[in-house]
Amino acid sequence: MSAAVIDGKEFAARVRARVAAHVARLKADHDLTPGLAVVLVGEDPASQVYVRSKGKQTVEVGMNSYEHKLADDISEAELLGVIDRLNHDPQVHGILVQLPLPAHLDSDLVINAIDPAKDVDGFHISNVGLLGTGQKSMVPCTPLGCLMMLREHHGDLSGMHAVVVGRSNIVGKPMAQLLLGDSCTVTIAHSRTKDLPAMCRSADILVAAVGRAEMIPGDWIKPGATVIDVGINRVEREGRTKLVGDVHFDSAAAVAGAITPVPGGVGPMTIACLLANTVTAACRATGLAEPEGLTA
Ligand code: NDP
Repeated sequence: MSAAVIDGKEFAARVRARVAAHVARLKADHDLTPGLAVVLVGEDPASQVYVRSKGKQTVEVGMNSYEHKLADDISEAELLGVIDRLNHDPQVHGILVQLPLPAHLDSDLVINAIDPAKDVDGFHISNVGLLGTGQKSMVPCTPLGCLMMLREHHGDLSGMHAVVVGRSNIVGKPMAQLLLGDSCTVTIAHSRTKDLPAMCRSADILVAAVGRAEMIPGDWIKPGATVIDVGINRVEREGRTKLVGDVHFDSAAAVAGAITPVPGGVGPMTIACLLANTVTAACRATGLAEPEGLTA
């Protein structure tokens, strides 16, 4: 292996420490404790694990955590009522609705009911538009975490060719916008892209956000490139369930200059960025200085 391994777990711990330090200052100097409300509808086991983890980390950095666990047959009107109350609650600076929602609820309608200033997931259409036009916005957590790791590793990203494989609204598209904002030349690839291997080989920065286990092998990677693997895929190996990314780690690490592992790469950064977004939202809501380096 020649690639440097970008340790997302360690980086996420540093981000959390910076968030905690800023929260401590807000409390001491302004009597302000940022609060994050997480809304969980139904009992999806994976969502329950994520929500528990978010709540625990929120409290660990000194913020208030409010969990709203709602029945899976809640009506859209009732759910919108909960969001409206949170929008008007001055103790709540960030609101996150855990996705996916049950099929009878319109996710777009629900997300767009959140006050954009409290939309710490960055999925509200206003935040999407602000990001797309290069204005100050709440930035989706996973791509924000990827950008922070790239900036930390490279410093200046300008002029680099970034290829983002995947065009989802939660990862691929905002990732491309952020890279463009940092003056990369950006290509977005997807399932209809012709000659994906050649496209990937042209990347100085390759971001894989596909959801297909180990789809990208080492010989699709330009020597020395930086590889950010967003994928989280569960596979059965030797009778055990294992997590792997969208990139074949061993062959890619032999060629790349730097690579994020799965697990321990992008994953831990996502919740760290959620906490960062919450403290940013609290500062913006109260007109106080935002923490530096914790947003795009
Ligand atoms: P989506 O399923 O919404 O999007 C996947 C994208 O990959 C689509 O744009 C699709 O193209 C593209 N794609 C699928 N197959 C191919 C292929 N053979 N060649 C090229 N492109 C392909 O996934 P998400 O963006 O939500 O998530 C992507 C991965 O990231 C998943 O593994 C997910 O678990 C993980 N993830 C990890 C997070 C973290 O915290 N680390 C957070 C969020 C997601 P098309 O549009 O043409 O169909």
